[in-house]
Amino acid sequence: MSRVLFFGIAALLASAGTALASHGEGGEQQWFVNYTYIVAAIAFILALKWLSHPKTARRGVMVGELGMLLAIVGTLVSFEIVNYTWIFIAFGIGAAIGVPLAVFMPMTAVPQRTALSHAFGALAAALVGTAHFLITPEITTFDMIALIFEMLLGFLTFTGSLMAFGKLQEILPSQPMVHKGQNFINFTILGLAVVAGIYLIIDPSAMWMFPIFITLSLLFGVLLILPIGGADMPTVIALLNSYAGLSASLMGFVLNNKLLIVAGALDGASGLILSIIMCKAMNRSFTNVLFGAFGATTDSGKADDIYGGKVKSVSAEDVAMMFEGAQRVVFIPGYGMAVAQAQFAVRDLANLLQAKGTTVEYAIHPVAGRMPGHMNVLLAEASVPYDEMVEMDDINPTMPQVDVAVVIGANDTVNPIARTDPNSPIAGMPIIDADKARNVIVIKRSLSPGFAGIANPLFVAPNSVLFFADGKKAIMEIIAAVKAA
Ligand code: NDP
Repeated sequence: MSRVLFFGIAALLASAGTALASHGEGGEQQWFVNYTYIVAAIAFILALKWLSHPKTARRGVMVGELGMLLAIVGTLVSFEIVNYTWIFIAFGIGAAIGVPLAVFMPMTAVPQRTALSHAFGALAAALVGTAHFLITPEITTFDMIALIFEMLLGFLTFTGSLMAFGKLQEILPSQPMVHKGQNFINFTILGLAVVAGIYLIIDPSAMWMFPIFITLSLLFGVLLILPIGGADMPTVIALLNSYAGLSASLMGFVLNNKLLIVAGALDGASGLILSIIMCKAMNRSFTNVLFGAFGATTDSGKADDIYGGKVKSVSAEDVAMMFEGAQRVVFIPGYGMAVAQAQFAVRDLANLLQAKGTTVEYAIHPVAGRMPGHMNVLLAEASVPYDEMVEMDDINPTMPQVDVAVVIGANDTVNPIARTDPNSPIAGMPIIDADKARNVIVIKRSLSPGFAGIANPLFVAPNSVLFFADGKKAIMEIIAAVKAA
């Protein structure tokens, strides 16, 4: 994050310098535009800073929105606009799609909604590039280079993001679609797209090459994503986000729009850093995510060995008894809490336990759920105080002092196999040390695996019991049992 801020501030200083240099040259309008852009760029940098912590995230969103508003206003007055009607028609269409998307998409569908937004953003950047290429009589070689890479990234991000959306929405099979020689074919297509682009840089009048270049770019976006499993899509989306940002930044060079350069660079850098953070949190490399076909197989045979006859299933009343006398309870939420939308019920149970004098915390794994910060968002939605959400590295050393750990819908992020089996797909992934708590209650519907498709010995550890039920239903039953006890 500090690197993003560094680049952002450097770019900001550069545009501030340009604005000062232009003082007196461009008249009132240019002044207004330059300073609007500077304030917008400051707002984007502050937004990124504040978005990096749950406590300040809301403020970050608002400042980011303000920055975007200023950027739009600045852009509207900076160009000689011939016809505002078309612009407002486009605004209307965008709002008609965007508002229902934001209002009606459920929280669990945020990853695919984000994919769709990237698809639209990348398409917009690619189309602006296309229009510029088609209507500009003379394009310099520098602009042509920027334009070609802008369109390449824009078009491949468009189809790539649509594929990611299709997989997450289960319109497309979420299993990795792999075949022999796949990487060779994909890179050949990328290579051909680059060659077509270079041809256009050398000879921009070769219009016949333009559709070939676009088709190859679109095709590469599809082929890049198809072999990646649906569950890896959030990481891929963060990466596509950075491509879209780079595309916008390149467009800024072509259109000589400094804000686009700054905002695109911030977007590109933050998307890349986010995907690196996600890979690190899963202890996986970029190449493993992009070419590893993770999640293609499940390990059901081994599941029988691990679980066979050892599962201890309990009822809500049993759980209520375990809470009696517990001084410290830690909830460990995972993807299943999002599916069950159990966050409100969990908060109610926490309130009930706190009223009885129990200390309650929430252990947050960086990749619990299906998008970064997924658990923070859900718990914040249920008004859980931020200081009760404890990051993995902070809570782990204290896990042996926890009386009851309640694992709700988490699986891979609490799987001790990550520590013990070097051949497991999650080997080396940092986990929340739920197994070290005195008692563990695991709430899930069955013995089905999580995203990594592997069995979890925590479920049959001597200190663990399983409550088989939908997350929300289970917690509501436990609340009733605690009240009745
Ligand atoms: P997992 O995907 O490992 O497990 C989720 C569990 O939730 C399942 O075992 C499932 O079991 C249970 N579940 C599903 N629906 C319900 C329900 N309605 N009620 C109760 N339980 C339910 O989740 P984790 O959060 O532990 O791990 C996230 C995984 O996703 C990690 O492997 C991570 O690497 C990966 N990932 C995360 C990303 C991120 O940004 N957060 C990005 C990319 C990947 P059952 O069906 O039996 O109920």
